[in-house]
Amino acid sequence: MDTRQSGFNTKLVHAGIPHDAYGSVVTPIYQVSTFAFRNAQEGADRFAGKADGYIYTRIGNPTTAALEQNVAELENGFGATAMASGMGAVSTVYLALLSAGDHMVSTDSVYGPSRGLMEKHLSRFGVESTYLDTTDLENLRKALRPNTKLVYVESPSNPAMAVTDIAGAAEIAHAHGALLVVDNTFASPHLQKPLDLGADLVLHSITKFINGHADVVGGIVIAKTEALHKQIRTMMINLGSNMDPHQAFLVSRGLKTLALRVERAEQNTATIAPWLEQHPAVAWVRYIGLPSHPQHALAKRQMSGFGSMISFELKGGLEAGRILMDSVKLAGLAVSLGGVETLISHPASMTHAGMAREDRLAAGITDGLVRLSIGIEDVEDIQADLAQALAKAR
Ligand SMILES: *Cc1c(COP(=O)(O)O)cnc(C)c1O
Repeated sequence: MDTRQSGFNTKLVHAGIPHDAYGSVVTPIYQVSTFAFRNAQEGADRFAGKADGYIYTRIGNPTTAALEQNVAELENGFGATAMASGMGAVSTVYLALLSAGDHMVSTDSVYGPSRGLMEKHLSRFGVESTYLDTTDLENLRKALRPNTKLVYVESPSNPAMAVTDIAGAAEIAHAHGALLVVDNTFASPHLQKPLDLGADLVLHSITKFINGHADVVGGIVIAKTEALHKQIRTMMINLGSNMDPHQAFLVSRGLKTLALRVERAEQNTATIAPWLEQHPAVAWVRYIGLPSHPQHALAKRQMSGFGSMISFELKGGLEAGRILMDSVKLAGLAVSLGGVETLISHPASMTHAGMAREDRLAAGITDGLVRLSIGIEDVEDIQADLAQALAKAR
């Protein structure tokens, strides 16, 4: 079925599914490493790109291709390349687009390993980078250098929930001859379409909303043009950052309900966020759907919903955070986000516990900061769980 003109929900269910000999309604798992040619000429034609068909699973696989086609349509891109993980997507983009002597500008509150890979590793190969608050486009404009080739924005970002004006960032990048890449993980393609706003590439940690069931790690890069798509795909093939067909099958299954899951989780969050903001144990709440969020108006303009990620600060600091973590029963104590289950984390006592307090504070990880990924459970249960745990943390 040609779904290119279909609505988002129709695309989620039907886009990318090839017709096979059995009329399979979903794409089966082609758990195959290599594909035989009927004769030498066909092999030569496939390698030359003159004949359709697969060669070897690192280069391409029917199960993975079905997922790639689906997500490319969801993001209104030319094509997509699925990866072994979100970091596989990030590293492939960096290595495909940056060379020694190039410079990249990025959001300061970007996903930690996306920054670590650049600052600790790509720097060894002569790639320079600058991290700044991209919610103010003037900062971005001033940071551009003659050798700036890439502007890399994460919006909304983690855990600051900072929102960057994507159309504005695209204009600045393009006027400079640079490309704009957007990490769209927190929004999902249901709530934000960066390519429509002017970005050249979009990437996702598929692990989060797209798969949504806490059972797969994966990533994907969607390119606006054929030339960029080929550049990313070639790098993926050479790096070996490809997604496995079994992974792709599970993701395709999870993806079908993306809109339902995202909408339900957002409904729950619309109850939880204002309630938390009024709670006596809570100093402040950062949720892009609340008028108190500094970029609430921008989020409303460039996104079609506010999602289900909340940060908040406990008045009781580090100790209150520990008590809250040890008291929740329904919310799972885990990193990751965007799944059907509610997850909670307290970076100061969990992920960032090994960091010096000063460095942690400089990175925006305050003592009482809690990150909450609201799931699709009954909102009364989520609220009751948080209420009893917050009462202990006061
Ligand atoms: C999780 C995450 C990543 C990395 O993805 P993995 O699948 O864990 O490799 C990148 N960006 C953002 C915003 C993320 O949340």
